[in-house]
Amino acid sequence: MVTVGVTGGIGSGKSTVCEIWSQMGAYILNADDLAKELMVSKPEIRDELVQTFGAEAFADDGSLNRKYLAKEAFERDRVDELNAIVHPQIPGAAQEKMAIAEQEGYEVFVYEAALLLENLEPGALDFIVLVLADEQQRLERVQERDESSAEDIRQRMAKQRNFEESTDKADIIIRNNGTLKELKKKAEIVYEKFLPLSGKNENNSHK
Ligand code: ATP
Repeated sequence: MVTVGVTGGIGSGKSTVCEIWSQMGAYILNADDLAKELMVSKPEIRDELVQTFGAEAFADDGSLNRKYLAKEAFERDRVDELNAIVHPQIPGAAQEKMAIAEQEGYEVFVYEAALLLENLEPGALDFIVLVLADEQQRLERVQERDESSAEDIRQRMAKQRNFEESTDKADIIIRNNGTLKELKKKAEIVYEKFLPLSGKNENNSHK
């Protein structure tokens, strides 16, 4: 199984690339989804969340109070506190998912994370793919996707690293300044390069 990390700034097209690869048979693990899963499933994380953010972190039925936590993290600038609780558990949990994907016969495992370059253990993934798009395009695309204000998106962008300056950390760069059709073509070409490296037999394929 080939393991691939996908990163890039807000609205660069990471999820879109992953969706294309999912349709081609890849196992996709999204870092945000994994974090949310861990917040509910790991008792030690639940306890720490309650200690740090109060009982309101969870609803009466035990489900995560996402609205409250998002408000605390982003509006009250407590995102570092949230990350400090969840992030240490991510690499181990990602490894577990990787083992499951391998067992299930997937040829390509993809880990999508905006903070991939910060949290990555060296050599943990075979390839790092960086998705880049011009700032103005990213802004317009996210505005349309989330109905957020330009100001809000700019603030979120300002908190991220400048991915244009991180190209040396990537094995493959996908520039997403064109149409969705063009992105699909590029993503397919990259994916076809992974497949021969997966080293698995065809009978068990998820393609
Ligand atoms: P985030 O970090 O905010 O999750 P992302 O990097 O995962 O963003 P996507 O959600 O894949 O970015 O893309 C942002 C939006 O732009 C989506 O609504 C997507 O459909 C759209 N989009 C992506 N690429 C293109 C493109 N080439 N042309 C038009 N729209 C695009």
